[in-house]
Amino acid sequence: MKAESAKLYIVDDDIQMCDLLEAYTCDEFNVVVHQSAKAFLASPINDDDVVLLDLKMPDMDGVQVIRELAYVNKNCSLLIMSACDEGVLHSSMQLAKEYGLNIITYLTKPIKFPYLIKILMTLREINNQNNSITHDSGSKGNSLDSVHPRRKFSTNKAIDFQLTFLELKEAIKQQQLVLYYQPQMSLSQQKIIGVEALVRWHHPEYGVIFPDQFIPLAEQSGVIEQLTERVINLAIAQLKLWNKRALGLKISINISAQNITSFTLPDQLTRLVNENEVDPSMLMLEITESALMTELTTSLNILTRLRLKGFQLSIDDFGTGYSSLSQLHRVPFTELKIDRTFVSGMLTSVESKAIVDTCILLGHNLKMSVIAEGVEDQETLDLLQKMGCDNAQGYVIAKPLPISQFEKWLNEFYDKVY
Ligand code: C2E
Ligand code: MG
Ligand code: MG
Repeated sequence: MKAESAKLYIVDDDIQMCDLLEAYTCDEFNVVVHQSAKAFLASPINDDDVVLLDLKMPDMDGVQVIRELAYVNKNCSLLIMSACDEGVLHSSMQLAKEYGLNIITYLTKPIKFPYLIKILMTLREINNQNNSITHDSGSKGNSLDSVHPRRKFSTNKAIDFQLTFLELKEAIKQQQLVLYYQPQMSLSQQKIIGVEALVRWHHPEYGVIFPDQFIPLAEQSGVIEQLTERVINLAIAQLKLWNKRALGLKISINISAQNITSFTLPDQLTRLVNENEVDPSMLMLEITESALMTELTTSLNILTRLRLKGFQLSIDDFGTGYSSLSQLHRVPFTELKIDRTFVSGMLTSVESKAIVDTCILLGHNLKMSVIAEGVEDQETLDLLQKMGCDNAQGYVIAKPLPISQFEKWLNEFYDKVY
């Protein structure tokens, strides 16, 4: 059924593309097609409208249109599409964000039509529900339920997951993301030195969702920025609380490749720790080896500034990526985290043990502390200690736990030890 007021603008100079897009969408939406960007900008665009914007057009390119939309303060939902490489699409999306536009995502051509339709339907659903919330401001119902965009078309979970980035965006706003804390233990002192904060999505319908199921989605859609910002805020708030109790625990958080392309990250983080009176060295930023390899110059610049400002840097999943030794040397990492595939194979595979051995040696020679992740049994833990590994993290110590359970566990741990 068509929503009466909202329009779907298709702006593309390619007539065949316009025809195709119109054919796929006209049953559901009030479609208006423009082959000229100028003609589109002259039309009456409302906040409820959705715009499918091609980036490469002869009279005005998509970036100019983005600037123009920002200039006239339009708050419509924007989806950009192009056959250009994803890098261009991603930068254009960043630009639109910086201009304060309501950019939803980008689509690479050839367009996957079923995917597009789902995005458009979800968007309409959210718009409708937001409208009904604004119109019904006296309602005291559960806001999580009332803005939930999924209900109407949740027959196939596998397909549904594809479109949840809009829902994920909403979930971040609704504070459905929480951190679980997994302790890290010093092997020489047998004490807890910190935790890794691992994000979980407490979904009102599906329960706890693990990061593997939504981080890639967040990365593809650009939502990763908001996600990381949320994780950072939660971690710093926790550090502040622990500070007051002088617990001396540091927190490691995971940073995506896309997060280390933003030049403002070091300043933003510094402002946050200062505001919360947290020592930056209590925050460890984990970057995977593969993340490091994308946009190397930019990431080097940002990582170096983060170190200068006092944050700690850890190279996560070490051994699974392809960083060269010289790159490793150029980035001022303070910790090397050995990937769990090698750690879990240590007792049975000579090769795995040799790799762990080499990682410990390499880390120490480069003045980094070395942590093994994925330690699942006491024998491995003992062996790591013998091999000179500094710290360990894994199920044998504890699983990632919600904050209240983690603190309870910590008390019991120290009751047992002392
Ligand atoms: P990771 O950073 O390598 O995190 C370690 C993962 O190993 C966690 O999975 C943890 O629960 C699991 N693990 C810990 N100890 C053991 C063990 O003894 N055995 C085994 N088999 N596994 C163990 P989780 O929480 O599902 O996270 C998966 C990945 O998702 C993380 O891998 C990290 O790359 C990513 N991730 C988690 N939180 C965030 C976040 O806030 N932001 C970003 N960008 N990525 C995140
Ligand atoms: Mg990690
Ligand atoms: Mg890891």
